[in-house]
Amino acid sequence: MAMSCDHPDLLPLEEALRRLWEALPAPALPEVRAERDDPAMDLAAMDGVALRASEGRAPRRILGTLFAGDDPAAYEVVPGTAVRIMTGAALPPGADAIVPVEALEPAGDAVRPNLVPVAGDHVRRRGHQAKAGELLLAGGSPVSAARLGLLAMAGLPLPPHARIRVAVASTGNELVAHPKPHQIRDSNGPMLAALARTLGAEAELRAALPDDPPTLAAALLNAGDIRILLTSGGVSMGDHDHLPAVLKDLGATILFHKIRLKPGKPMLAALLGDLLVLGLPGNPVSAYLNALLFLPQALARLEGRAAPAPWRRARLVAPVRHKGDRPLLHPCRLVEGRLQPLPGQGSADLITLAQADAFAWIDSPGQEAGAKVRYLLVV
Ligand code: AMP
Ligand code: MG
Repeated sequence: MAMSCDHPDLLPLEEALRRLWEALPAPALPEVRAERDDPAMDLAAMDGVALRASEGRAPRRILGTLFAGDDPAAYEVVPGTAVRIMTGAALPPGADAIVPVEALEPAGDAVRPNLVPVAGDHVRRRGHQAKAGELLLAGGSPVSAARLGLLAMAGLPLPPHARIRVAVASTGNELVAHPKPHQIRDSNGPMLAALARTLGAEAELRAALPDDPPTLAAALLNAGDIRILLTSGGVSMGDHDHLPAVLKDLGATILFHKIRLKPGKPMLAALLGDLLVLGLPGNPVSAYLNALLFLPQALARLEGRAAPAPWRRARLVAPVRHKGDRPLLHPCRLVEGRLQPLPGQGSADLITLAQADAFAWIDSPGQEAGAKVRYLLVV
């Protein structure tokens, strides 16, 4: 019987993601309280006229027009009158309802509602959403676009936003610009820099590094003004896989090294001072998938956002077999919302990666056609 080289004690993916999350600092939002009643005055919720509801369907003479932002004290709605009003404008004194444009008929030089208005119709009442001083958001909440909008509404300063700076450096003596048959080009570097940009980071592609411990150490120590260094290669079991030892020699904290995932077992994450080093495996599919899993997690944490939820679910249209005890991420096409497995050739197969829309999570011994599985979208 063939022996699996997998280790059952390898770190599960969820645990690796959790360790990364907890090792990184997160900016948190301040407590938000309503600066004033929201809305601060009664506001029109529709375009129409502001009038006194008690006058029913009687015609109203128009005194003028109020736009959002106009001071409503310009008019006073007395019996027999109304003011044209646009959405967001404050109600003039005397008015207690809005009749929308669609419910108005001309009546000489006046207008007449074709319905019986009720006080409060289409009015956003003062303090309806919040009273001054009310708690709108607990301190320490994760950052989201909507919450930044809330800070702005409450007149609070927004946290400065700068994209997280990421540098990408491949490793490997075999990486050259004009490869002889025994050499290759650096495809991971441009791929990972593009991915980091797609994920919202500011990414800089650096020259590939040789498999030479002093050079690797110097590159780590002189990483410069970046928050995350994405390396690829040099974290596996080969004689030239120096990165884990170099990081340890430099006193880095290894968050994890080796996870229960196929492809991508040698994945490493370490903190060297404030610098997060994501040591991706060298094989292109492994490097890509691990960057797709770990980089959004790190970026979200460093930006104070909630942890990303990258998994979607869909049915497989064909079976996928899988031996071994690491969960497999298998390349698929998405066809009408269902996963069509591709005949992938494994972790070195950049050609299939470039054709895939998604990677399906397959536990041993595999999944039948029709099974609902979770998957990651290729971006
Ligand atoms: P390593 O993890 O360094 O042992 O590399 C595993 C495999 O990935 C080897 O076949 C490498 O040649 C290949 N590889 C490593 N780095 C890159 C890269 N930047 N671009 C393309 N292939 C790479
Ligand atoms: Mg290598």
